[in-house]
Amino acid sequence: ATPAATMVGTAIGARNGVLFKGGDILERVHEVDTVVFDKTGTLTKGEMELTDVEVVGPAADGGTLKPERELTAEFVLEVAASAEHASEHPLAEAIVEGARDRGIEVEDPEAFENVPGQGVKATTRHGRVLVGNRKLLSEAGVDIEPAEDRMDTLEREGKTAMLVALADEAEEDSDGEPNYRLIGVVADADTVKESAKAAVSGLRERGLGVWLITGDNERTARAVAEEVGIDPDNVMADVLPEDKADAVDELQSDGDQAMMVGDGVNDAPALAAASVGCAIGSGTDVAIEAGDVTLLRDDPADVVKAIRISEATLRKIK
Ligand code: ADP
Ligand code: MG
Repeated sequence: ATPAATMVGTAIGARNGVLFKGGDILERVHEVDTVVFDKTGTLTKGEMELTDVEVVGPAADGGTLKPERELTAEFVLEVAASAEHASEHPLAEAIVEGARDRGIEVEDPEAFENVPGQGVKATTRHGRVLVGNRKLLSEAGVDIEPAEDRMDTLEREGKTAMLVALADEAEEDSDGEPNYRLIGVVADADTVKESAKAAVSGLRERGLGVWLITGDNERTARAVAEEVGIDPDNVMADVLPEDKADAVDELQSDGDQAMMVGDGVNDAPALAAASVGCAIGSGTDVAIEAGDVTLLRDDPADVVKAIRISEATLRKIK
């Protein structure tokens, strides 16, 4: 584009809450043929709410907990919430808030470790705790099979289901690792942004491919994809934060130019890997830093606006 057209395009963008970082970005946006959306906080509001708490696991039927305590849903929630109290993840915040709403006093964990894209490990006054996805618990040697049916049902409802395991301080296996036992499942639900569906249909009408990428599981991801009109074959689920950039590279490997739209700290490498990185406004500074385009209004439909502005700008000079 000519410098004059670029200036006009950039100014129109700014007026509409679409910030292009430099003139050549408009041309790159124009060349995009695939748009990849992050799920949480991008297509969904990222405002999680605790929806389900259930007792599951071997201890549920007759087994005893140490110290002697009845295994109830309330106890599962208390354990999960005190582990998550140290985490800033939206999933964690919803669990803590949900516990407080139900009159549970949530204590700080004594020790805490965040496992990105998987969950948390913590030491609480009830013992060592794991809250997270299948991978986190399986790798810690927990038999998660008894929870599979419940997880499956919750995920088909589009919820993010998380497993909760507890190990008494005194219980260690022969390698000195905590002997975790599955005690329950908790689930959070998020709502899809009002304009997410319009954004997807606007892009598809323009002939663009639309993808969803998430660290969340396949079933939840597909439920959200279906709700917003993304083809279930275009869902990349269970993608660890560090693998999101590779997934974007892979999509671009046949010459496609991708625009990655994301909000979180986790998304910065993927934003950088894409031909155009698009940071959605309410996101973190890190994401905005890594983005070529920033959508100030936190509205996925502004992706279509960005593409329209680039089209108009480039049309002028042809
Ligand atoms: P997204 O890509 O949707 O932003 P993340 O990469 O942050 O998701 O997390 C991927 C998955 O790891 C979550 O869906 C959840 O199952 C698990 N997880 C991550 N953080 C936590 C947490 N603090 N507590 C429980 N589970 C978590
Ligand atoms: Mg995210």
